[in-house]
Amino acid sequence: LTIGVPKEKWVNEKRVAMSPAVTAALVKKGFTVNIEKGAGEEAKFRDQDFTDAGGKIVDGNKAWDSDILLKVRQPMENEIELLRENSTLISFLYPGQNKDLLNNLAKKKVNAFAMDCVPRISRAQVFDALSSMANIAGYRAVIEAANYFPRFFTGQITAAGKVPPAKILVIGCGVAGLAACGQAKNMGAIVRGFDTRSAAKEQVESMGAEFLTVNIQEEGSTAGGYSKEMSQAFIDAEMALFAKQCKEVDVIITTALIPGKKAPILIKEEHIKSMKPGSVVVDLAAEAGGNIETIEPGKIVTKYGVVHIGLTDLPSRLPTQASTLYANNISKLLLSMGEKDHFDINMKDDVVRGSIVAHNGEVTWPPPVIAVS
Ligand code: NAD
Repeated sequence: LTIGVPKEKWVNEKRVAMSPAVTAALVKKGFTVNIEKGAGEEAKFRDQDFTDAGGKIVDGNKAWDSDILLKVRQPMENEIELLRENSTLISFLYPGQNKDLLNNLAKKKVNAFAMDCVPRISRAQVFDALSSMANIAGYRAVIEAANYFPRFFTGQITAAGKVPPAKILVIGCGVAGLAACGQAKNMGAIVRGFDTRSAAKEQVESMGAEFLTVNIQEEGSTAGGYSKEMSQAFIDAEMALFAKQCKEVDVIITTALIPGKKAPILIKEEHIKSMKPGSVVVDLAAEAGGNIETIEPGKIVTKYGVVHIGLTDLPSRLPTQASTLYANNISKLLLSMGEKDHFDINMKDDVVRGSIVAHNGEVTWPPPVIAVS
């Protein structure tokens, strides 16, 4: 079986769905790995690194003309024509927002797997690219904030005077938020975290951060451990807490998301106005509508003396790291379905059924609901 890895064509996309180490692992399993010339350039993988690992460097058309296509971003309209009938595509696909894409893939009889739909069950953690990318986004959010913040994050006592540590508030402590807590703590800041799921308390504290609470009893976690929409009373209570924090903290990083819903607005314009000049806010929910009223998705702007970072490509800003982890996730998913000349799409497997969005000419999304373990 041949695996094709085309160069990513989306504007500013620096990741690639393959690494030299994963190429070697797949070649060892009997696959031929065809990588488009220059596909790894932005991620700092040279063509030579792939050939040294046993891969083949080919032109774009040859990479697309493979049995199995591995990608980061969904194929563009003109790329769908390049896919072979009955081939398998594995990539981020976001089926809920891309109905036409699903229909086109089904029409072309492509068996398509969405990395963003891999069920987050224990067994599938190794395929979980959403978590890998969220971890990177959380880290990078702190680095971006530090880049714009006009002081140290860490406290210091110097001959020239005492420097207080920066105070950082992280709202939404899932995978990205916890990574942000850990990184900000590593850089010496005072870190506070807030989440609607009570399970997050222990995780935030294990990062050395303080967990903030509101005086209202409501669990933000569903039975499966995911977040749910909170009552208006709870949202009002947390917003009152954040309004106070805005006057005190130097940096706010927000990541509050609810699967399949618009992100809740948690910081309003009036709260931003109350922050100290030189403060920085980073909204990782910007693409889903944002948690900060004044954020501009994809942009870095200053409003009321506060730097607003609404970047939506944070994982791609660490392209080597993101590609390495993504290639691990995607190849493990692939290898769970077969090797050499044997490749089996078992629709009875929870992970396959949860992530396959087009199969044998049919759109197979959404999947039937499965229990989360
Ligand atoms: P996410 O990116 O969907 O959301 C980020 C965080 O925002 C969540 O922690 C959520 O509780 C929080 N949030 C939502 N509304 C909020 C509000 N109004 N105020 C404050 N915070 C709010 O979440 P995620 O990082 O994808 O992870 C969510 C959960 O899934 C976590 O419990 C995580 O441990 C779990 N998870 C499980 C697996 C697995 O394989 N079992 C893998 C990844 C994540």
